[in-house]
Amino acid sequence: MKNPHVLDGVAIASEIKAEVAHEVAGLSKKGIVPGLAVVLVGEVPASQIYVRSKVKTCGELGIYSEMLTPPESITTDEMLAIVAELNAREDIDGILIQLPLPKHVDTKRLLEAISPDKDVDGFHPVNAGRLQSGQPGLQPCTPAGIIEILKRSKLPIAGQNAVVVGRSDIVGKPAALLLLNESATVTVCHSKTRDLPAVTRNADILVAAIGRPGYVTPEMVKAGATLIDVGINRLTDAADVDRYFAGDAERAATFAKRGSVIVGDIHPAAFAISGAYTPVPGGVGALTIAMLMHNTVKAARLRRGIAVESI
Ligand code: NDP
Repeated sequence: MKNPHVLDGVAIASEIKAEVAHEVAGLSKKGIVPGLAVVLVGEVPASQIYVRSKVKTCGELGIYSEMLTPPESITTDEMLAIVAELNAREDIDGILIQLPLPKHVDTKRLLEAISPDKDVDGFHPVNAGRLQSGQPGLQPCTPAGIIEILKRSKLPIAGQNAVVVGRSDIVGKPAALLLLNESATVTVCHSKTRDLPAVTRNADILVAAIGRPGYVTPEMVKAGATLIDVGINRLTDAADVDRYFAGDAERAATFAKRGSVIVGDIHPAAFAISGAYTPVPGGVGALTIAMLMHNTVKAARLRRGIAVESI
């Protein structure tokens, strides 16, 4: 059997970021600077890392960014007022509310308050509807990144059997719709699916967005399939690390240094029998910020009626 092809998310993300930077430079000649506002409530360390990285990438690509950091005690009404102000601002094209929000804040109401034209996360029901009916709009970043990986790696989608395990509104469902819009034959699985291995073994393209470490084992995979691993699961127990990464000196060294390693939703042993796969880390996750930058520039164009050139 041929060695599986590693789908390098970091390289693809760099390519997309370079294209976005090029577009930003083109827009600046028209006097337009795309702007992203990121709202980070309270002090969740993981969220702080994500937000800093988003703001930093904006800077690198020439996108204006602004970080708003209301305290943990902020109410839903106060958050709604922030969103209304950002909706009205001419210099802001994208609004991102970093999730999760504190429990007392009504997340659904807030996400629905963002103007669909500035909804760079693609979570607003209007954008979900546009995606469902194949109309242009802002698409969720992680699922859109999956399509970019497949297309830029010249892997066929049309006519392929695509199986998506997971049906969340932010990953599984939009990924399934995007694959369907690309003319794949799509099956969506979830926790109530009967005989999951029988379904996944039929997949030419298998997308795992489950949130369970190494859940998709080699027995569940057809030889030569393309494996797209969306999962990000942190292992902190040495026995678990050994279970998933036995004999992997690099992972062992990372674990010794950091006290944790990341594993996806697909068992690493399954990659060996695939035709191509996205590694974790360095696969799908690497695309998410690049697609956010793409969406911000797309929002800037769509709002002004300027044709979208790339992607
Ligand atoms: P959710 O928890 O919202 O959804 C998980 C889905 O998996 C649900 O639809 C659930 O089914 C299904 N599921 C759970 N257990 C099983 C099972 N035993 N068999 C079949 N299906 C099952 O997770 P998300 O969609 O938000 O995230 C999925 C993964 O992707 C996580 O690891 C997350 O960290 C990662 N992620 C990565 C991103 C990236 O940038 N790379 C971005 C976002 C998420 P049911 O609906 O029936 O409960």
